[in-house]
Amino acid sequence: MERKGCAIITGSSRGIGLAIAKQLALDGYPVVITARGTEISNERSLQYFKDNNFEYLYVQCDVSKAQDRVRLVELSEKVFNKISILVNNAGIAPKERVDLLDMSESSFNEVMDVNLKAPMFLSQLVAKSMIKNKTEGEKATIVNITSCSSDRLSLNRGEYCMSKAGETMMSKLFALRLAEENILVHEVRPGVIKTDMTCSVKKKYDDMIDEGVFPIERWGEVEDVANAVSLLVDERMSFSTGNYIDVDGGLHLSRL
Ligand code: NDP
Repeated sequence: MERKGCAIITGSSRGIGLAIAKQLALDGYPVVITARGTEISNERSLQYFKDNNFEYLYVQCDVSKAQDRVRLVELSEKVFNKISILVNNAGIAPKERVDLLDMSESSFNEVMDVNLKAPMFLSQLVAKSMIKNKTEGEKATIVNITSCSSDRLSLNRGEYCMSKAGETMMSKLFALRLAEENILVHEVRPGVIKTDMTCSVKKKYDDMIDEGVFPIERWGEVEDVANAVSLLVDERMSFSTGNYIDVDGGLHLSRL
């Protein structure tokens, strides 16, 4: 059987990204793990891949920087020959939650740069690499980790909602453009998942769970999101593109 190309997962030193990298390694892909820190500073996260003899490459990469994105793709191609999967996972929340009327331009730019501009231009680079290196009929997949905030409104973090709604549109545009290349593009919309990103608002979400806001009454785990990615990139998913999966315990179900 032909050797699988690699899976690049942005922001995979911890949280949802690390869980996705572990799952895709278990699925048999060489994985490219990336974050802003050095390889040494992420040694603990990388130990799992060493212990299990999984093929991996760590690339220090700030996705908001154009030169880092180019280097990430070049190194991935150099080490693993081709890229089969890109998971645009790296994302940030605004440093402060403030009312829409007080949102600063610098916070807007910072969030947009990481959550929307970076996946847009990384997908462009990776799609070109996939087209160049794929064999006839071979499938490749891009998965964008957006959010329930692509659709739901939070007045105190409007820049985050706008960045994720933009990424949802980006997913559909790439799905349409790349269908003829057999590069399938999907989106996963996590709800409230237990990671560093949500630890500062733990009490708020604990209370919401107690109040029954989430039909499945628990925190989402990083593995819940990783499992959805694993399903979407599976070889059996060959006639679907431009879809999304909510991984939110049923939060999107509106009730009267
Ligand atoms: P975390 O804050 O726990 O982890 C973020 C990861 O991204 C880290 O590995 C971090 O590494 C990396 N990262 C941050 N900024 C950059 C950057 N500029 N360039 C490269 N890597 C970066 O986040 P989560 O795991 O919670 O979130 C992952 C994704 O899921 C995000 O897109 C988020 O918006 C989305 N999401 C999360 C939800 C949740 O409830 N947790 C809900 C809905 C969506 P380092 O700091 O070392 O660079």
